[in-house]
Amino acid sequence: MGGPDMYDVIVVGARCAGAAVALLLARAGRRVLLLDRARFPSDTLSTLYIHQPGLARLQRWGLLGEVLATGAPLLTRLSLSFPGARFTGPAPALGPITGGCAPRRYALDHLLVQAAIRAGVEFRPRTTVADVQWEDGKVTGVRHGTPRGSTTLARAHLVIGADGRNSTVARLVHAPFVRQDPRSTRVYYSYWSGIPDPGVQIYSGHGMGAGCIPTQDGLTLVSVQVSRTIPAHDDRQRTYREMARRSSAELDGQLTEGKQEDRLYCCSDLPNFFRRPHGPGWALVGDAAHNKDPTPGRGISDAFIQAEMLAERLDFPLDDTQQADAALSKYAQQLREEFTPAYESTLTTARLDPSEYIQHLVDNQHDPAFAEHLFRSFAGLN
Ligand SMILES: Cc1cc2nc3c(=O)[nH]c(=O)nc-3n(C[C@H](O)[C@H](O)[C@H](O)COP(=O)(O)OP(=O)(O)OC[C@H]3O[C@@H](n4cnc5c(N)ncnc54)[C@H](O)[C@@H]3O)c2cc1C
Repeated sequence: MGGPDMYDVIVVGARCAGAAVALLLARAGRRVLLLDRARFPSDTLSTLYIHQPGLARLQRWGLLGEVLATGAPLLTRLSLSFPGARFTGPAPALGPITGGCAPRRYALDHLLVQAAIRAGVEFRPRTTVADVQWEDGKVTGVRHGTPRGSTTLARAHLVIGADGRNSTVARLVHAPFVRQDPRSTRVYYSYWSGIPDPGVQIYSGHGMGAGCIPTQDGLTLVSVQVSRTIPAHDDRQRTYREMARRSSAELDGQLTEGKQEDRLYCCSDLPNFFRRPHGPGWALVGDAAHNKDPTPGRGISDAFIQAEMLAERLDFPLDDTQQADAALSKYAQQLREEFTPAYESTLTTARLDPSEYIQHLVDNQHDPAFAEHLFRSFAGLN
């Protein structure tokens, strides 16, 4: 294969997973085409929080300074509240990273794409992939629309689907689910001014939970998670405020004093799964490969970690199909092994039923070593 539209890798989807893997592959000398149907910069549904392992990747890639320059503060204080128990203190450090951070997605995703472009990636926004090209049972490219309404073919040794939980690439290559679990929660959130900033505040109640996460421009993202066992009400704004009130009287007081500065965002499409993340000529990364309930806020960090795992495996001539099969099988195995424990604990957290473990928390709430362990678990550091 050759010609002007031939790449080493085509990456479909240009946010946390796609822009990151494109950046890393371009830095390794690959010719990379990055496509996204969205225009950039643009927002996407997210409660924004990046834990320390995600920030450590951004630092390793030389991008943490740019993230902090968005004005999103480093969140070095943590407060985790449960019925009858509260843990407050400094966020655990990972090397020099002393907290989490919550940049707006229009800023984070854009700066990742800009870094990828600087590394040599060819980026085409407003470009929807509608089909994949097969040759002898192997994916050899994608067909995508253009902003002018025509369709074109781009070819590559490897097509990476980084196109989110409802991945088009996964559907087109018939990537099967290797594990699926029921949806647990619905999420509501908006941006507020006038909320005091003691860092990240998480409230875990029975059937509901809430979080206050300071972001850019002096605003705080206030999210509410509601168990799907509680019937959804048509009046979402009322549900949001009511569930915040029931999660915590303290939070309710803060919201009464503060001002909601944006519309309410809601999401109930929150599946839990692992897909088979590879096949001949294709791979999946980020939510396309493995999605889980966002209650513990792991998806962005995990997308960065997976992007790094995949890019590191692709250290051979990509037209060597045997090596590609072996490397992608190892990537799939590593992904399943490394992410299953956190997936299991996410399923537990997302049940929003602290009754299973609340007595243990109450009994240990004055033990600093226990609090440290809890904070490290929250940050994904245990
Ligand atoms: C309500 C909610 C709250 C969340 N809160 C957090 C949080 O606080 N912290 C955290 O770490 N994670 C959170 N997550 C999870 C996190 O947002 C995801 O894990 C992360 O965005 C995954 O990144 P990704 O690049 O894999 O996919 P996405 O961010 O979904 O990006 C996929 C991209 O692919 C593009 N695309 C899709 N189809 C096509 C196509 N056919 N052609 C071209 N382009 C295409 C889309 O336009 C999109 O830009 C949350 C998720 C939700 C839904």
